[in-house]
Formats: sequence, structure tokens, C-alpha cells
Amino acid sequence: MTNSLLAVRDLQKYYFEQDTLIDSLLGRGQQSVKAVDGISFEIERGETLGLVGESGCGKSTTGETLLRLREATGGSVRFDGQNVFEMGDDDLKAFRKEAQIVFQDPFSSLDPRMTIGDIVAEPLKIHGIPDDSGDASKREWRRDKAGELLERVGLSANQLDRYPHEFSGGQRQRIGIARALALEPDFIVLDEPVSALDVSVQAQVLNLLDDLQDEFGLTYLFIAHDLSVVRHICDRVAVMYLGNIVELGPTADLFESPKHPYTKALLESVPRPSTDEHGRRVEALSGDVPSPRNPPSGCRFRTRCPQVIPPDDLDIDQETYRAVMDLRDALAVGDVNPDHIWEAADPERVDTEAFIEEARSRHVAVELHGEVAGVVDTALSHLTEGDFERARETLRDRFESRCETHRPAVGDVPHPAACHLYEGSPEVTVTETNANTPAEADD
Ligand code: SF4
Repeated sequence: MTNSLLAVRDLQKYYFEQDTLIDSLLGRGQQSVKAVDGISFEIERGETLGLVGESGCGKSTTGETLLRLREATGGSVRFDGQNVFEMGDDDLKAFRKEAQIVFQDPFSSLDPRMTIGDIVAEPLKIHGIPDDSGDASKREWRRDKAGELLERVGLSANQLDRYPHEFSGGQRQRIGIARALALEPDFIVLDEPVSALDVSVQAQVLNLLDDLQDEFGLTYLFIAHDLSVVRHICDRVAVMYLGNIVELGPTADLFESPKHPYTKALLESVPRPSTDEHGRRVEALSGDVPSPRNPPSGCRFRTRCPQVIPPDDLDIDQETYRAVMDLRDALAVGDVNPDHIWEAADPERVDTEAFIEEARSRHVAVELHGEVAGVVDTALSHLTEGDFERARETLRDRFESRCETHRPAVGDVPHPAACHLYEGSPEVTVTETNANTPAEADD
């Protein structure tokens, strides 16, 4: 890309836990929560890049970190050629004028004690604008400017002295947009700007953002959890999962030919208005996003992926393989309790076959046959002696997937996907410290 306004390289934002004095005294090591784990992308001038993923994937943290509202752990962000993380006070002040943010919640992002005229004019005041207000006082100049901005976003200059609580959600978001425009920025991070709004109002705000982009030559990073929202406003879309970008491509390509199983699942869950599609099987993405405190080894998506890759020499259909992987995950996180299984199967704890049958009915969602059934039953039989390690090992030896031992990354191609199903997906060289699964994400 030759005309990029923003270039993000290997951006990392980690949070560290267990670094108190007591943790040190007890010898507990620091644990990192990898909210953003080495992502790269560029945004051209005048372009809108969508950043999409479920709650907790790190997309809002990305937006705030690249604006230096949070301190990055690693990587770089270049804005108009300048490294944002190395800017001194003067350059940072200039950058803050050029790069703005609109937050998701139009109710909490406006100070309820300020009039909307003061809210919209506040950035001008902070930056000492104007230098010269001519015959008017600086306050009058800023008030006039705030009135113009309100008119531009579809409100009225007559409303300058009113307070945020007097406006609807859509109107408040327009006020937030007017405030972001006050300093005439080049770049705006739109952090879920329509998620809190009614569907009927969403379209109006999206159209407004589109018009403003044309009028002022703005560049947007548009953050959303819903792919349907970004379709009509974004030129390209990056899909994030658990701190990583898993697919990035032109919007039309991504919607028409999604590559990554996660993108496909997100698209599948988008309702479509066409009557031809009534009766379409909408497969909701199963399971929760794993916690970034303890992310899965290898591909971060492997614990939910409907296409996880079995060993070459194993004859198994995907549904059965998914069921076996889910059993392995349940064993890894301690979700299998042999006492409960014994209580239901045989309180005398003598009938191993009854135990295995009960364990299968509780923890394996499909009928098993042949070699697969044999290996699973052997593993479950180790649980009758409470030997979790042997049970896990037995399953790992036969069912271990490339998806859990090698982490794929996005390659340097026009429409990359971080998935072993695609030639050209490079692997990230990492030392995985655990190969476990996930508790729920925490945001
Ligand atoms: S690498 Fe494996 S687990 Fe990850 S998305 Fe591709 S097929 Fe699924």
C-alpha cells in the first residue's frame, strides 16, 4: 500500500496480573492477558477499515492503544509517517488534533453537567483554538463553530444550550460525532458507534458518517461486533479473534468468499432479509470466546472451529472429531467429574462398562464407532481410576491436530486468512506454555 495514513505493525497490548508483593513472595510468576497479540494492518487515506469480532476479542483495545489512550506493550503505529509511540509532547498534541474517537455509548460519553454547545466546543478550548477570533470573543467564535457543527450533523444551532439528557440516543451520538469533528481531524476511530442505537436510527447515523467522510476526506477505523453493520460503510474488513487478526480483505471479497472458518461462522449468524433465504439453517457459533488469560495453543479458534483438521491417518468425520475435541477440552479444564459419573452409572463402582457408557452419554455428543470408539473408551477407562493424565494422553496421542500444535498467521497476500486450510498461511513461531482450553472471556 502506498498511500497509508496509518500503519500498525505487530501491535501488542498485554495486561499483567499477579505482580503484587504477595505474589512475588509466593513465587508466583507474572501472568499476561494478551488482549491484543501482535496485529498489523494499514489504512489508506480516505479509506474505511472495519475491525470486527465478538465481544472480548481486543478490537476496542486496539483502537484505544493505537490512539495512545492506552500504553502499548509492543509494536509500532505510524501516523502520516511518524511513530506515534515515540512522539514528544508537541507532536502528541498535534496527533491528538488529527486523530479522534467516537465511543459506543452515547449516554455515558457526554458529560451530563455540560451543555451540548460546551461539549462540542471543548476540544477547541483545550487546543487553544482559535488563535485569532477577529471581532468576536474566542468564546463566541467557538460557540458559532459548535452551532455549525451541530447543524452539520443534523441537529440545530438553537439546541446549543440544552443538556445531553434532553436528546435521544441517536441525537447524542450525533453530538459525539460533532465533538469529534471540531478539530477537523484526518482520522477517526469509530468504536461501535451504532451498536447502542435502534436499528432504524443506525442507518441514519451510518449515512451521516458516510457523508461526512466524503465531505471532509476522513479516514475511519470502524469497530463493530456485527458484520452486517460494516458491509455498506467499509472498504476493507479485518476480522479479529482473541487478540489476533484472522482474516483481512476487501469487503466484497470477504462477504462473497470468506476464507477463515470464524468469518464464515460470523457471516452465517447474520440474519438476511431475502425471502429466498427463509428456512436457511443459521448455525450460531458454538461455545464461548476463550479467556485471553489462558488462550488455546496453536490456532486460537480451534476450540470452536467446525473445520478443525484431524491427523492425516485418521478416518473421521468432522462432527465426530469435533465431539472428541470437545471431550479433550472438557478434560483439560476439569469439566469431567468421575464421581458424578459413578453415582449415575454404578454406585458400587465396579461396572467399568456402565461408567464408560454414562461418561460417553454425558460428554460425547455423537455415536462413536470403530477405532475412534476404542480409543475414547480406553481413555475413559483411565478415569475409573481417577487417572486424568493418562486419559488426556491417550486421546492426545491419537487425535492431536496440527491446529493445536501450530499457530497460523495472516500472510502477505491481498486477502489473507490465518488458517492451516489455506496454502500461504505462515506459522507464528511461538513457545506455547499451555495447550489448554479456555474459560469464558471476561468482557
Ligand atoms: S487452523 Fe484449524 S482450527 Fe484454526 S481455523 Fe483453520 S481449520 Fe480451524
